[in-house]
Amino acid sequence: VRIELDRNRCDGHGMCADVAPGVYELDDDGELIYRFEGQEIPDEDQDAALAGAAVCPVAALKRAG
Ligand code: SF4
Repeated sequence: VRIELDRNRCDGHGMCADVAPGVYELDDDGELIYRFEGQEIPDEDQDAALAGAAVCPVAALKRAG
């Protein structure tokens, strides 16, 4: 599973980071750090990554395969 981040959509409120702090994190400037950007997500992190993507209010995180 991959999840793509559309940075143009992301508004940095961090709902994804609340749900899945090991996968998504906000830096000091409110920029989202997505641990698996451009990568396949390891099995053990997939549920958390998908749950975080599901709560994004602007659909900036999309499953991509
Ligand atoms: S929930 Fe969506 S808009 Fe908010 S920080 Fe995460 S990706 Fe960005």
